[in-house]
Amino acid sequence: MAGAGRKTVRSTCPYCGVGCGVLLTPQPDGGLDVRGDPDHPANFGRLCSKGSALGETVGTGHRLLTPRIGGREVSWESALDTVAERFASTIAEHGPDSVAFYVSGQLLTEDYYVANKLMKGFIGSANIDTNSRLCMASTVAGHKRAFGTDTVPGTYEDIEDADLVVLVGSNLAWCHPVLYQRVLAARKARGTRIIVVDPRRTASCDGADMHLALEPGSDVALFNRLLAEIDARGAVDADFLGNTTGFDAALEQARAEDGTATGLSEAQIAAFCTEWIGTEKTVTIFSQGVNQSSSGSDKVNAILNCHLATGRIGKPGCGPLSVTGQPNAMGGREVGGLANMLACHLDLENADHRAAVREFWAAPTVPDAPGLKAVDMFDAVGEGRIKALWIIHTNPAVSMPDADRVRDAITGCDFTVVSDITAETDTARLADVLLPASAWAEKDGTVTNSDRTISRQRAALPAPGSARPDWEILAEVGRRMGWQGAFDYQSPAEIFREYAALSGIAGSFGRDFDISGLVGEDYDALQPTRWPVSARREGGRFFSDGRFFHADQKARLVPVSWRPPVAKTAPRYPFRLNTGRTRDQWHTMTRTALSARLSAHLAEPFLEIHPADAFAKGIGSADLVRVDSPQGSAILRARITDAVRPGQVFAPMHWTGETAPSARIDALVAAVTDPVSGQPESKASVVNVTRL
Ligand code: SF4
Repeated sequence: MAGAGRKTVRSTCPYCGVGCGVLLTPQPDGGLDVRGDPDHPANFGRLCSKGSALGETVGTGHRLLTPRIGGREVSWESALDTVAERFASTIAEHGPDSVAFYVSGQLLTEDYYVANKLMKGFIGSANIDTNSRLCMASTVAGHKRAFGTDTVPGTYEDIEDADLVVLVGSNLAWCHPVLYQRVLAARKARGTRIIVVDPRRTASCDGADMHLALEPGSDVALFNRLLAEIDARGAVDADFLGNTTGFDAALEQARAEDGTATGLSEAQIAAFCTEWIGTEKTVTIFSQGVNQSSSGSDKVNAILNCHLATGRIGKPGCGPLSVTGQPNAMGGREVGGLANMLACHLDLENADHRAAVREFWAAPTVPDAPGLKAVDMFDAVGEGRIKALWIIHTNPAVSMPDADRVRDAITGCDFTVVSDITAETDTARLADVLLPASAWAEKDGTVTNSDRTISRQRAALPAPGSARPDWEILAEVGRRMGWQGAFDYQSPAEIFREYAALSGIAGSFGRDFDISGLVGEDYDALQPTRWPVSARREGGRFFSDGRFFHADQKARLVPVSWRPPVAKTAPRYPFRLNTGRTRDQWHTMTRTALSARLSAHLAEPFLEIHPADAFAKGIGSADLVRVDSPQGSAILRARITDAVRPGQVFAPMHWTGETAPSARIDALVAAVTDPVSGQPESKASVVNVTRL
């Protein structure tokens, strides 16, 4: 496959949580040939449009090549000394909670591990949070409430064994395309039926048997009704229920609602319940439409309640399956990269867990309380409580809710460091210190996909300029802050081995995350491996023995009740704004905008609006419209379509101050969060729309 002297390496796509394997072959002109890896268990050679265009995005013209302070190019020594000194002096004067890291699901696990160790073990604060907070924090909270740990029970193979796949708040066809191809292949092979639960008619509905266009945010009402019907139709698995507690309370709560909040007809709800209850092998896949909600954790538990009540978990072909937005959101969860987690699924609030991690790290301290979650973190930045902030591989000045306010908060921060591959982001422009980081094709490490498969990412290209891997930058700062021994890493392999050894301690506490069996593995040759991997627990299927991770080993059904989105429509803001992704763009387009082919799919920011609403507002096809929310404004191109229902509008979230200054969608979104998970409600803002 490779030409003479050109070595093909096996790596992983850096986009969505499917985690497809790729074969990378450097080209003589400095480019990269990218193919699907036929031997990777996530994709078996398939790639979607974004993955197959990866080779078009590796140019270095946009790259940040040298560290900068105040816009001036400086040496690495000078930049690292400045970062270490400013963080150390801020901590000395104001305490450890006056600093924070805001990191990213784009980080490799080894990068994440070092960042988490530096903040939680040595700086002594839990103020490290990640853009994964915007992605799947509600699922983490839901899993922990139900199972006692953040365990994803399902696997991709379950899709091939299922007779019914229910997509809830997931446009799988666009956001996880290769997984959707696996669903369609299963449909062809065994007639698997597909139900889509989504307020909007998306591309995923094209191949579906049923589309339930429920009211935004009403998923709890639908799944509570399902739980009540499961009981009423005698479909409860009484034997399995012995492995759980909380059924009666959850059922009582479910019975208190009748499903009318969904806005669906009784016939639609009955048809859904009949399909779900009548199909033993049901996989419920859920994503951002569930998570990005002020009731996201309750939505997750409403879904888990139904699987637990029917015993449809821990068996082939059935179970709940959360799909994450980012390539390594799972790895970030595993290393404890969220402000309310420790490491290796150990708990910050557990004194024994803290003591074990502290001893393992030989750390001076481990905080006993959660740090600031993303929205709270930027509030603290705006209020001056956070005085030194390090932002790594993410663009919160665009992607956080109430983005204008976040941009202003970063602008006013005493000291902001940004590590990224480019200086051309809204956030990078606000940095006091800019650190050039290696990009995905230049880095070695591991990532974990949505079904717990750990894959190697391998460097195929040299890093341009003086760009360095993130683990190395973080370790350099840790050493300069006085912790030489703890951060004396020479390679990502060394970090991975330490991490795997720490997971063995988690395993000894009876936690789910244990990859201690990989400590002695040849890191360079590591094959895609689904965790757990330990002497205690081998194989990929959790809960097949009916044992969960609460102290009594029983799962919890959690009583939940429907509540509407926080923002209320009113004459001034009569429309409900849904946000999401397009097929061919990724996040804030830092990479995907470099491919002309990808940019051609949907070339400019737009607003989907129903024909009746467009008519009432005097809006014609392709008119420019102004969208106003209580938080901000945007100007978009109208796309008139009945894919959205009357009273609802949809806009993609990709465009930035760099690519379309008037179309920063998260400037419209309120910074309202789920009280359990801290995840923002990104899909239910209220807006007005007027023709320009
Ligand atoms: Fe990459 Fe996701 Fe597409 Fe796979 S499905 S190629 S991981 S973007």
